[in-house]
Amino acid sequence: MVIECKHVWDYISDYLDGSLPPETRALVQKHLDHCEICSAILDSTRNILVLTADDRVFELPVGFSDRLHQRLNAEMNKGVGDSS
Ligand SMILES: [Zn+2]
Repeated sequence: MVIECKHVWDYISDYLDGSLPPETRALVQKHLDHCEICSAILDSTRNILVLTADDRVFELPVGFSDRLHQRLNAEMNKGVGDSS
């Protein structure tokens, strides 16, 4: 099974969480090994998560797709909503 960039983007937050099933994680890992775009997104996402955890204002780097942007916002809003 081969996964595409857009699938990797869906998995990135779970990948960073360590909550992906091992076989899915392996697929993502394999894709990241040869895809510079997704590796860059992974790095940026990791930085964003760090910034978010730190309660600071952040901006997504130029080049992020709108879809990924929305996805990340949804993830972050989920986390923020927990503390109501
Ligand atoms: Zn990719």
